[in-house]
This record gives sequence, structure tokens and C-alpha cells, in this order.
Amino acid sequence: MIKKIIPQKKLNDFQQLLSQSHKIVITTHLSPDGDAIGSSLAMEKVLNTLGKDARIIIPDMMNHSLTWLPGAKEIIVYTRYEEFAERLISEADLIICLDFNSLKRIDRLSKFVGEAKAPKVMIDHHLDPEDFTAVQFSYPQMSSTCCLLFNVLCGLELAEYIDRDVATCIYAGMMTDTGNFTYNDSDPDIYVIIAELVRRGIHKDEIYRRIVNVHSLSSLQLNGYAISQKLECMEDIHSAIITLNKKELKEYTYCKGDTEGLVNIPLSIPGIWVSAYLREEATYIKVSMRSLGDIAVNKICEELFGGGGHKNAAGGDFHGSIEECAELLKKKLREDPPRMDPNLQKRF
Ligand code: 5GP
Ligand code: MN
Repeated sequence: MIKKIIPQKKLNDFQQLLSQSHKIVITTHLSPDGDAIGSSLAMEKVLNTLGKDARIIIPDMMNHSLTWLPGAKEIIVYTRYEEFAERLISEADLIICLDFNSLKRIDRLSKFVGEAKAPKVMIDHHLDPEDFTAVQFSYPQMSSTCCLLFNVLCGLELAEYIDRDVATCIYAGMMTDTGNFTYNDSDPDIYVIIAELVRRGIHKDEIYRRIVNVHSLSSLQLNGYAISQKLECMEDIHSAIITLNKKELKEYTYCKGDTEGLVNIPLSIPGIWVSAYLREEATYIKVSMRSLGDIAVNKICEELFGGGGHKNAAGGDFHGSIEECAELLKKKLREDPPRMDPNLQKRF
């Protein structure tokens, strides 16, 4: 297990910070996904069981598919309770940063977290961590922050505090960050951890259904519309783009999370290796990209959209019209078409 690759010194440093802290703030990235919310809730429950006063603050609302997770209703959403959140951050003895490694990923919270007197601890699995924390658990080889957190908790000898609720949250993050165990599947430890979580009483099929397989009629119709009317396939460059503008989203009463997973669908077409989904938000265009094999979409998102992420799942923002955003991306894909090793191609 990864426990062996986390140096004991790092665990001791974290342990030391925990023992000196009572008021603990846990925070995670903008548009928090299953891994962000799952790891935050798991960490919070373990700390509160240890007698700490831990609270989770998120920059903006999570997808509604996650609000049923144990403890999710108590999460403080910064956009709703700005002053309260700012006070908690400034009064905290310790700030734990989960599933992000660069302050800009927490948007307007970055100012308060950056200026806070409390030491910070990072537990994350993205590439190229920024240096803003006292202790850094940064393991990009891990498929999810939840998987890493499980190992950190075991390393801290807190495994006994992983009860069914904590295990449920950890499983939710492991599942969502691996596309329900359909990518990043080469790590056997994932399955060792799942076995441990099942032993703790999680209902894994129910977690899957509630997060992935519950949709409103309008969201199903929006996804249907996007696929039938808005999917542009460029077979010659192995790429596909879906765009949805504000008007279209409004027509289908779009709620956050309604198009979760949409970006993956074009990858089911043989010969499509790169997929992009552009969604018009209030003031910018949100870009989501996915790829197969060794094609690195995080590089494209970094270069064009000031974003990043993982090799096969990345995102960023564009400031301009959705048409300009699509044109920019197509130009890039035409100039530098995705390439895949012929041996690897056989697998897709
Ligand atoms: P999604 O497409 O599901 O929104 O995001 C997929 C992954 O891309 C996330 O897990 C995250 O790692 C990364 N990501 C998405 N948006 C951004 C962004 O704006 N900036 C950075 N650095 N990473 C992002
Ligand atoms: Mn993650």
C-alpha cells in the first residue's frame, strides 16, 4: 500500500499539526466534484470524532448528486455565507486543502486562505503542486484524493475511525475520479481499499446509483439534445466538441451537474480520442476535456485556458464567446492533431 511511500516524517508533521489544533477548516476546489466533497467529508468526520471542531468551506455549490452524502448538508458554501466563512478561515488553527494544489483553484477563497495565519496541509493528486502549505501530501500517481486520504488515515493509525459514513465518502471520491473504475484502473491497491470499505459496510451499488444514475427528465433531455444536435465530430483529427450556450441551458432548466459525464460520451465512438465540452457560464466559458491513452489534454487546457488537471481529464476557463472558444480549440487540434502510438491504438 502507498503507506510505505508516504514518508513517516510527513505523517509525523501532520500528526503534530493536528495535535496542536482545535479549530480546523477543510477546503477544496471550485465546482467541487465527488473526490473533492468525498475527501472533505471523510476528513471532517474523522477529525470531529477525534474531538476537533472541523468545518468544510467550499468556494461554490457542489453538484446536487452529492448533497445526500453523509454530512454534506453542513458544508459551508462561500458564495452563500461569505463573512462567516472568512471568519472561520481567519480564526482557524489549521487549514487542510484537499484535491487541489494551487490557490487559484479555490477562486475568491484564495485571498483568505493565502493570508490566514494557520498552517496549511495539502492532500492532493494533481501535478505540479504550488508551495503554499507547511505539509504536502502530493501524489499525482494516485487516482483520487480519496484513495490518498485513505492511506494517510491509515498512516496516522486512524483506520479505526473509518466508519461506514467515512467509507461511503471515500468510496464516492474513488469512484467518481476514476469514471466508476473505468480509467486509472491499473493500480491494484484501489481494489484492496475497496475491499476495506465494503468491509466497513458501504453500499457501493447504492452510492453508484445515487451519484451517477439519478437524473431529472430535463437533464436527460438536455444531454439528448447535446448529443443529437450539438456534437461535432472531427474524425480526421480524432476529436469531438460539444457546446452548450446559456440559451440552450436555460431552455432545459439546467442545474449544476446536469451534464456531468456528457464530455465522456463522444469517446465511446471508435476513432475519437479527444473530447471537449464547452459550457457557457455567467461570465466565462467552462471547458472540460477528456482523452484516451497517452494524449495529454491537461497540456491543452493549460496552454489555451489557464487550467490543468490530469492527462486524460482536464479543464479550464475561457473569457470570450463560446464560438471563439470552440474556434480556438479546433485551430489548436488542427495544428497539432492528437497522436497515439499504433500499439496503444489497438486498445481503443
Ligand atoms: P471536469 O471536466 O470534470 O470539470 O474536470 C476534470 C478535471 O480537470 C478535474 O478533476 C480537475 O483536475 C481539472 N480541472 C477542471 N477545471 C479546471 C480548471 O479550471 N483549472 C485546473 N487547474 N484544473 C481544472
Ligand atoms: Mn480529484
